[in-house]
Amino acid sequence: MEINGYTRTCGLIGNPVEHTMSPAIHNTLADAMGENLVYVPFRVPENSVKEAVEGAWALNLLGCNVTVPYKSAVLPYLKEIDPLAEKIGAVNTLVRTDSGFRGYNTDMPGLYRAMCGDGVKPEGEKVLILGAGGVARAVAMLLAEKGAQKAIILNRTVEKAERVAEEVNTISGRNFAEAMAVENYGSLPEGERYLCIQATNVGMFPKTDEAVIEDAAFYQKIHTGYDLIFNPAKTRFMELTEAAGGRAFNGLKMLLWQGIIAYELWTGTKVGDDLAERAYTAMRQAMKLS
Ligand code: NAP
Repeated sequence: MEINGYTRTCGLIGNPVEHTMSPAIHNTLADAMGENLVYVPFRVPENSVKEAVEGAWALNLLGCNVTVPYKSAVLPYLKEIDPLAEKIGAVNTLVRTDSGFRGYNTDMPGLYRAMCGDGVKPEGEKVLILGAGGVARAVAMLLAEKGAQKAIILNRTVEKAERVAEEVNTISGRNFAEAMAVENYGSLPEGERYLCIQATNVGMFPKTDEAVIEDAAFYQKIHTGYDLIFNPAKTRFMELTEAAGGRAFNGLKMLLWQGIIAYELWTGTKVGDDLAERAYTAMRQAMKLS
């Protein structure tokens, strides 16, 4: 693609940004769709978030992604916030409007698209969520919104799980989530089989031989395990889930779809399945996954 005076720029605001796969997704899509658009990472130093958002606006950027640690820090500098992002309390995508940026969260719609593509339907499900960090909270919110029956949030620090459960119940207006200390997993009822979302950092590269729970008896209670980690492609949690007879998925497709949904918001286009597959291949190549 020739860069010329009409080229539009999208970027990533975060710190660090060097390991991002987003340029592979967006530049592949732009190339394939013939959009005169480039996507570049911007490392933003601590305490410079306001300047970064205002600067992106002043430089006529079409949009931005936002990553760790600024997904909540950018909120005060946005003109508008999409209702789902507001409920989640974090944005990962800024879309240019006439008067400033509008913030969206495409991580959760991305996870939902990935799950649907894998044939995993949260509607009516009883779900276990491992972890109670920013992503686990967003997952609980998504599941409540999509009509899952119930969520049990298991976390090392049980107070955090209690806080997340309370917030999700208040915002969703349902008695949906409950908290459990992760070491008490043995008290989960016998005979139930759950969808389990692994939303902790445990098992991430380079500590790939770790899982929050090692006990095979726990994995007997899981029919489907969804690990949000994407490096390694097969986590210990996934191995344990499969060894107990369950289906297991990683977070790569979530990463892909959060990017595609952001791209669609920026460009007003629709990315078809063939093109999504091309972006997926580019992303895996950039990650040096086979
Ligand atoms: P976070 O806010 O830092 O939360 C981390 C969670 O992991 C907390 O619940 C923490 O428990 C738990 N944890 C960490 N170390 C632990 C240990 N040794 N034993 C037990 N629990 C431990 O992180 P986050 O932003 O929510 O991200 C969570 C995961 O989502 C990451 O693995 C990230 O890669 C993944 N993610 C994937 C995508 C994607 O597109 N696929 C996008 C975003 C994030 P305590 O509360 O007890 O500390």
